[in-house]
Amino acid sequence: MTNPSLLILPGDGIGPEVMAEVRRIIDWFGSRRGLVFDVSEDLVGGCAYDKHGTPLHDDTMARAQAADAVLLGAVGGPQYDDLDFSVKPERGLLRLRKEMDLFSNLRPAQCFDALADFSSLKKDVVAGLDIMIVRELTSGVYFGEPRGIFEEGNERVGINTQRYTESEIARVAKSAFDLAMKRDKKLCSMEKANVMESGILWREVVTEVSKEYPEVELSHMYADAGAMQLTRWPKQFDVIVTDNLFGDLLSDLAAMLTGSLGMLPSASLGAPMANGRPKALYEPVHGSAPDIAGQGKANPIACILSFAMALRYSFDQGDEATRLESAVERVLADGLRTADLMGPEGGAPVSTSGMGDAILAALDASL
Ligand code: NAD
Repeated sequence: MTNPSLLILPGDGIGPEVMAEVRRIIDWFGSRRGLVFDVSEDLVGGCAYDKHGTPLHDDTMARAQAADAVLLGAVGGPQYDDLDFSVKPERGLLRLRKEMDLFSNLRPAQCFDALADFSSLKKDVVAGLDIMIVRELTSGVYFGEPRGIFEEGNERVGINTQRYTESEIARVAKSAFDLAMKRDKKLCSMEKANVMESGILWREVVTEVSKEYPEVELSHMYADAGAMQLTRWPKQFDVIVTDNLFGDLLSDLAAMLTGSLGMLPSASLGAPMANGRPKALYEPVHGSAPDIAGQGKANPIACILSFAMALRYSFDQGDEATRLESAVERVLADGLRTADLMGPEGGAPVSTSGMGDAILAALDASL
């Protein structure tokens, strides 16, 4: 049997630094748990533009399509700010998402107890929080036509169109129900059915799909009320499914309940491939952090937790994913902090590789 394949795209800025720690962890799972991946590496973003004049070479796109999963670091940097829009580093990432048709974006908001003081909310509101936001990623108001800025009489008018087909709603709803089945069997769907027809259709289709999942308790909430509830008592939720625009806002809101950008992983999933695995791209939520790049200060945990998501959602290795997440939790509970996690009390931060060393030691201790 061939090993599962993993394409690694470290990208720009701190991307290669945090990915170097993930490579060590991938090697650990190979040597200590017999989980061997066929790993290959390629360029994306500014570094791809520097070499090929495009932020994503066609060959890299083809390798991503063929891989069992893609793990990406981050793209961008000030040296690329003046490039034409069509070759900006972010276009490489957008091309990956679009051509792999990654319609379901999973953004966990998980609060490690050791970091509960880091949240802007009270400790008891966030300690132990573990929710998942599923955002539709390839349709809705960011893509709907007509769009543009048009002349109308004596003035200009800016137009974007919220548009969803039944099948687009149904496929993201199914991915959220599947996820709910693997978690607490509780799903809340958020839209604005009170003022938007697309919201009425969203609610109808999600309700229809729910008939295939009688074990999952489905609720509906208007997205604005959802934002309030997420800040008031986020632990009432387990999985939330919502559209592209509301998901953009609500997933950022939920993520920040838990503290630092350096801690947040994500997964973007598409339709199942011939081998039954979904097309998948895993990446930290943060960017290339040019302000700290090359200094060994970056927190590698978001990228490491993105690999944990790959273990769980692409490779059916939920127990090993939990082993990795628990190793991260143990290291944080021991008080280890990269610079971004230092509280006002100060102390000596560990470097990117120091955090990697500690997580590897905690993995060893887990055996
Ligand atoms: P950013 O996420 O790169 O950085 C925001 C702040 O958070 C910075 O102060 C940074 O030092 C800090 N930070 C981020 N990740 C960290 C980590 N792992 N450890 C410690 N500190 C961390 O966002 P930005 O500054 O708005 O953007 C910088 C560049 O990244 C831009 O070119 C932007 O276009 C790009 N970007 C890329 C992605 C992506 O690749 N998915 C996402 C967002 C921004």
